[in-house]
Amino acid sequence: MTRQIPVTQIDPSTGTSNKKKKGETVELYASRKKIYVKEVKGFYQKIRTISLWALMGMYFLFCWVTIDGQPLVYFDLPAREFHLFGGTFFPQDFILLSGMLIIAAFGLFFVTTLFGRVWCGYTCPQTVWTFIFMWVEERIEGSRNKRMKLDKSPRSREKLIKKALKHAVWLLIAFATGLTFVGYFYPVQELSVDLFTLNANGWAYFWVGFFTIATYMNAGWLREQVCLYMCPYARFQSVMFDQDTRTVSYDASRGEPRGGRKKGVAPEELGLGDCIDCGLCVQVCPTGIDIRDGLQYECIGCALCIDACDDVMEKMAYPKGLIRYATENELEGMPSKLLRPRTFGYGAALVVMIGAIIFTLMTRSPAELDVLRDRGALFKYNGRGMVENSYTVKIANLSQVRQTFELSVSGLETARLLNNKNINVDVGENLEVPTVVEVDPEAITQSNNTITFTIESISGEPLTIETESRFVGPERR
Ligand code: SF4
Ligand code: SF4
Repeated sequence: MTRQIPVTQIDPSTGTSNKKKKGETVELYASRKKIYVKEVKGFYQKIRTISLWALMGMYFLFCWVTIDGQPLVYFDLPAREFHLFGGTFFPQDFILLSGMLIIAAFGLFFVTTLFGRVWCGYTCPQTVWTFIFMWVEERIEGSRNKRMKLDKSPRSREKLIKKALKHAVWLLIAFATGLTFVGYFYPVQELSVDLFTLNANGWAYFWVGFFTIATYMNAGWLREQVCLYMCPYARFQSVMFDQDTRTVSYDASRGEPRGGRKKGVAPEELGLGDCIDCGLCVQVCPTGIDIRDGLQYECIGCALCIDACDDVMEKMAYPKGLIRYATENELEGMPSKLLRPRTFGYGAALVVMIGAIIFTLMTRSPAELDVLRDRGALFKYNGRGMVENSYTVKIANLSQVRQTFELSVSGLETARLLNNKNINVDVGENLEVPTVVEVDPEAITQSNNTITFTIESISGEPLTIETESRFVGPERR
């Protein structure tokens, strides 16, 4: 027998749910209704505020900060260098960057398995910027009720000023966001001057404009629509949930049957649960849903409904936690497990990946050497009667300083380099130099010989790197 998945329709304007009745057709298209989010204070809102301002601060500051003349975070695409927290990475280090992204992904899976969508609620850029835009809106247009009243009111000077001011501040924040973003790819000090003196290149104007408009639209206009319809993570994160994932939940066994009552009346007297059906949990919800309808993909896990409900419970002198972080098992009166195969799996993958990255970083050589033998000619005799082979030596300087390397060759008696013995390589440079090795034909016992090229740093920290190549000579009879 097939089981039908229950569908719940939510009216975002009121936050109330319309449960589908048997045989009723569900309209899949819903026109957008504006959500007026009520500001709320409380424990989780405090944590969110700290986290959101801290992340915002990091975003706006990191491109300006330098350590020993190197930017803290900077992606120098023309030079193919990536500066991250004091380290410089090159395209050769792509594996490291991939590893870091994998760690971030597993970190996200691990946390989601334990606490649901904390990423969405506390750290996602869409949440961070929407939060700041709403904060500005509240300061300029006032509380939820005042904003609803203002929108319904006829055109007036006051309305025009408030709306114009709000959009001007939004655009200013969006512009600062766009400029900062481009500042991670274009020296931000130069960019902030070049942009206003019309000396920046066309792409800089394009990308600053693009990110300004994207920020303004996403955080100012689209808001919850991004989470509901555009974000892929919202759609697949539920596969990381299980009955022991701690998510923002309404304790229906304690709250139902819901109903209004006067303060001081015990719920049992009226045959009711603890939910007074005040609707505050819906009014504070940035996606306009009713958490009392159970876990929904629209819930971004911001926990604002917990703060709102705890405040109500306090006023009613009921215990807090009618809405709280709880697991499905806990709500059903069963024991919950923090550690389970899923958390072990993600945790183990995370530990292994972090270990591998630390090991790679610690053993990462500050230079790389590669030698390619010129395949165009097997060998030739020079004017001194010596046998010559030509090579291209490639040296990559992965350190933070310019280096001078001494190149030498060994492995065949009398082998010596004819040129390019001392090679200067700039930071991040991947230098190719042609070189020639000559060997006395008397020392050659076979046609194909192994020789070793060595570079030794003579300008910085002691460093020696060797690599093997072939030396081809005449056949001995
Ligand atoms: S805030 Fe709490 S009491 Fe008010 S409707 Fe929501 S769950 Fe019920
Ligand atoms: S239901 Fe609660 S936790 Fe979920 S998005 Fe709405 S306010 Fe945030």
